[in-house]
Amino acid sequence: MKKDQTMKWNKTADVVVVGLGAAGSCTAIEAHDNGATVLVLEADKVAGGNTRLSGGTLRIFKDTDKVYQYYRAIFDETVKDELIHKLIDVTATSHEWFKKKCDAEFMVATKVPFPPAPNAVWDFLPGCEGLGGRSQFVADKFGGSEKMNGGFNMFKTMMHGIEKRNIEIMYETRGRHLITNGKKEVIGIQCETPKGTINVRAKKAVCLTCGGFHRSAEKQLNYLGLKYIAQGTKCGYGDGIDMTAELGAKMWHMTGVSCGISYKVKDHEDPIAIGLHSPNYLYIDQKGKRFLNETGVDVHAMAFDFTACVAEEMSYPRLPAWLIFDEHVRESGSLIGHCPGIIQEDATFDGWSDDNQAEISKGWIKMAYTVADLGKKLGFNPGVLEKAVADYNQCALLGYDPEFGRDAHSMGPINRLPFYAIEVWPALLNTQGGPQHDEYGHVLNVEEKPIERLFAAGELGSIVNKFYPGGTNITEAIAMGRVIGELTAKLTDVEE
Ligand SMILES: Cc1cc2nc3c(=O)[nH]c(=O)nc-3n(C[C@H](O)[C@H](O)[C@H](O)COP(=O)(O)OP(=O)(O)OC[C@H]3O[C@@H](n4cnc5c(N)ncnc54)[C@H](O)[C@@H]3O)c2cc1C
Repeated sequence: MKKDQTMKWNKTADVVVVGLGAAGSCTAIEAHDNGATVLVLEADKVAGGNTRLSGGTLRIFKDTDKVYQYYRAIFDETVKDELIHKLIDVTATSHEWFKKKCDAEFMVATKVPFPPAPNAVWDFLPGCEGLGGRSQFVADKFGGSEKMNGGFNMFKTMMHGIEKRNIEIMYETRGRHLITNGKKEVIGIQCETPKGTINVRAKKAVCLTCGGFHRSAEKQLNYLGLKYIAQGTKCGYGDGIDMTAELGAKMWHMTGVSCGISYKVKDHEDPIAIGLHSPNYLYIDQKGKRFLNETGVDVHAMAFDFTACVAEEMSYPRLPAWLIFDEHVRESGSLIGHCPGIIQEDATFDGWSDDNQAEISKGWIKMAYTVADLGKKLGFNPGVLEKAVADYNQCALLGYDPEFGRDAHSMGPINRLPFYAIEVWPALLNTQGGPQHDEYGHVLNVEEKPIERLFAAGELGSIVNKFYPGGTNITEAIAMGRVIGELTAKLTDVEE
């Protein structure tokens, strides 16, 4: 929207940061340290966004030239070399940056999922050996906890960096429209607050770090072609897309998602992410058929298989699917991974038991003493589940899975009673799409020219498109947040 004569400013700062997750906090810290006054606007009542729900690991690069080769092979031609290099070069200094700026301490990631997350999701691509492991922020340094997910602890460290600089945050302040001057430069942002609409003046720039659209059913249908449930935060409206579209931004990577497997918790609004600790399991569709290499598909890439559609029937036979497992899996620990999603903050949710017994008692997990009886409980015709399990068991015992190629070491037979099943759905962790930006984080218009004074970082218009190389969203949010924070602080003031 263009500023008119009647418009009054309610607040002013040099750099206005919209959304306080990883990208927003790194932007704010860097802008502050480069001499700018900074105001952070956060739509939610709390800060942290998807960042606080995440695994919160920081990528370690062993060889940046090789990492470039690897990323180049993954990111498509919409992503220019300059942007990949910027991401890698800045990330290579992220550990030191956090130590210096936020007094961070790191430790080796302790919680290992099954199957363990590989360094490189695609270990056949050139340069994959350039990736090192991942590190985590020491849990209890700034009020975090070993019991929480890594992202919770990571964000505590980021907030320490914000608080020690006294950077102002306005909560429940949702950016809705960018405000421009007569030269189409961005000079502010209009926001909704519980007390009404306010106009915030940005003397140097507006930085959009307001995440993705995982909570917008309308955007899911338009961009992903399907409605999803989501594990991410409630304010994932995708406002950054609407605000930048108003100014003619070019959108990119709109179909990209990171999507895991979850259970729709009865009587609760949000799903809970499934995480396994033992190999004695498989997934089947509504017809009782196995349909993927269960341990070969990366945990973020579940949408590819689970949302497959049978066009002639207009049906989605894996929505929902069943996770079938045996006593080995039940006793190996809670079925829930170390990043359960936003449900972890739901005060009415009692949590998930370590031995899964409470969930069996509640009927969330179906149990039977024979596979045939389990099949009956799930509504399959006699023989259907028995065949699926017997075929899979044969693969597990032979160590050879001709149809799906599951690795011998990650296949355990389903042969220890009782047997169990739980209904599972693909659930969005986050989306990738949004306005395209260049290596400076400048938002580009449809001619790929910068929209003056408008920057973006993080999940909103991520570098990632279809293939998500694990641990990259956080890495990118931090790196590009740092880039736009430093750059915008050094801009001259823009006139109204
Ligand atoms: C359960 C889960 C696990 C994950 N695990 C990992 C992982 O292990 N590694 C990894 O790399 N990635 C992971 N991700 C993805 C990663 O967390 C995010 O992509 C990343 O944190 C995004 O950072 P961000 O700063 O761009 O957005 P966010 O952290 O989501 O922050 C955006 C903020 O903007 C606010 N906001 C939204 N709209 C507005 C508006 N209009 N005005 C003002 N504020 C607004 C939101 O409330 C939010 O606080 C995970 C995601 C989830 C949900």
